[in-house]
Amino acid sequence: MVLKELERIRCAFFWGIQEGEKKIHWVKWNNVLASFAKGGLGIGSLKGFNYSLILKWLWRFNMNQGGIWVKVVKAIHGMHGGLHGESDYKRGIWFNMVKMYLSAQSSGMITKYPIRFNVGNGTKYKWNNGIWMWHWKHISLRGRSESLLYELSQMLESVPLLNQDDKHYWAVCQNGDFSVSETRNSIDNAILPSLHPGTRWNKTLPKKVNIFLWRLAIDRLPTRLNLVSRGVDIGNIGCSICNHGVEDNHHIFFRACWLRKFGEKLVCGQVSISTDSPLG
Ligand SMILES: [Zn+2]
Repeated sequence: MVLKELERIRCAFFWGIQEGEKKIHWVKWNNVLASFAKGGLGIGSLKGFNYSLILKWLWRFNMNQGGIWVKVVKAIHGMHGGLHGESDYKRGIWFNMVKMYLSAQSSGMITKYPIRFNVGNGTKYKWNNGIWMWHWKHISLRGRSESLLYELSQMLESVPLLNQDDKHYWAVCQNGDFSVSETRNSIDNAILPSLHPGTRWNKTLPKKVNIFLWRLAIDRLPTRLNLVSRGVDIGNIGCSICNHGVEDNHHIFFRACWLRKFGEKLVCGQVSISTDSPLG
C-alpha cells in the first residue's frame, strides 16, 4: 500500500536511518505521529490527511448542489450521491471515496452523520410555508405509524424557528465549517495510540532539545538498560560513568553521577577549569 510505504520513508527520515541500515526505532511511529495530548510529537498521519481530503469532497458535494459535477455524480449515484450506501453503481472514484467515508463512520474514525443541518428560519430545507416537508420511505401510513406521525408533528409545532438561515454544518469541526486540519486531527485522535505522559513542547527551545526531553519523559533514550532490554549485546548494564548501579534514565539524569565524577576529577586535578575569557 502506498500510504504504508510513505510512512516508512518518513519514519526512516525521522530516525535518521539510511536505506538498508538497521537501527532501533525508539518510539513506535504511530506514537510519534500522535498529538501532544496523546504523548506524541503532533506530526499527524498520512492516513488521516488522506481521509480528511476525501471527506472534503463529500462536504463540497453537499454544499455545492448547483454544481455541474454534483449533478453528474447524482445522475450516476442517486440523489444523495450514495452517501447513505444506496448507490447501485458500485464502481469508479466517487464510489470508492464514499466507501471510505462509510467505513470511516462504521469504524468510529469519524462521528456518525458528520454532515448535519441546523434549521434556522426553515426556508431552505424542511419547511415550506410553515409545513414540514417529509421524505417518506413508505408512502402510506396506517395505524401505529400514523399516530406516531401525529405525535411528532404536535411536538414539532412547539419548536421555535430562529431568525437565521438554515445551514449545513460539519459536526467534526468546532465552528461547523469544514477544516482539513481539524478533521485530520480528529481522525488521528481516533486512530493513533497514546503514550503517557502527554508531550510538553516548549516553543523557545530548539526542536532537538524538545525531542530529547520528550524521549527522556517516556524513557526512550539509549541508556544501557534500554539497549539491553531491546536485545543489544553490550555486556553489562552498569553505569559507564561511575560504575555504581544500573544505567537507566533515573541514574543518569537524576542521580547526576557524571557531575559527581566530574567533581572528583576536578579535586584530583585531572581536569582544570580555565579562568581566561574565551574571547581572549
Ligand atoms: Zn553512574
